[in-house]
Amino acid sequence: MLEVKDIHVSYGDLHAVTGVSFEAPEGAIVSLIGANGAGKTTTLNAVSGLLRLEGGEIHLEGKRIDGLAPHEIVDLGVVQVAEGRKLFPSMTVWENIELGAYRPRAKERRQANQERVLSLFPVLGDRRRQVAGTLSGGEQQMLAIGRALMADPRILLLDEPSLGLAPLLVMDMFKAVREINNQGITIVLVEQNVSHALAMAAKTFVIENGKVALSGGPELRDDPRVRTAYLGV
Ligand code: ATP
Repeated sequence: MLEVKDIHVSYGDLHAVTGVSFEAPEGAIVSLIGANGAGKTTTLNAVSGLLRLEGGEIHLEGKRIDGLAPHEIVDLGVVQVAEGRKLFPSMTVWENIELGAYRPRAKERRQANQERVLSLFPVLGDRRRQVAGTLSGGEQQMLAIGRALMADPRILLLDEPSLGLAPLLVMDMFKAVREINNQGITIVLVEQNVSHALAMAAKTFVIENGKVALSGGPELRDDPRVRTAYLGV
């Protein structure tokens, strides 16, 4: 169980996150939705240790993890797939995948994780020698997720995996996310596609101006505030 408790994060004078709390129970998919600039990415970056907290706490299995270095958080099994993919564009697909297994714990499970990545995204095997920067947007997203899976996550933090993908690929991407979850990996999904996020997640947290404004299960789709602000109905 990942527990984010009333966290606060600032960039200089800008208070980007001012009291976000949520829980991701083991094996669940939870999602964070909200307008551009609401603080979703900042929240994920705080969980993965890339940003320091000004207040609040983050616990994994009851143990406090805020204040740990990002690589220590990866070693505990919390792995982030960054928004915008952040691949090494001039390296091959396979080199990018191999780089995901750089921590000692992941090295032990390298073979099993490679098989998992190839069965989820067979195209990455077909393209293993291709330079990553020449992949399509959808393939790059698959590669970014594949690389994260090589780190052997227990909890995957996914930042807008459907961003920029064609509608058909969006469906494939969400299918893959569900499949990853079926393999026992807990998922925290930041998603601009609100109707997909609500359908996939056991619980969704709506972030507005750096705070959780509302949370609930798939029934949130019937909430008048969600319908007006995020579903356009
Ligand atoms: P989006 O869906 O557009 O990615 P978001 O909900 O993920 O939005 P954040 O990226 O967390 O939002 O941004 C929250 C606030 O913090 C915004 O006002 C943003 O401009 C600001 N911000 C984000 N990153 C930085 C940074 N590195 N330096 C300064 N301000 C930042």
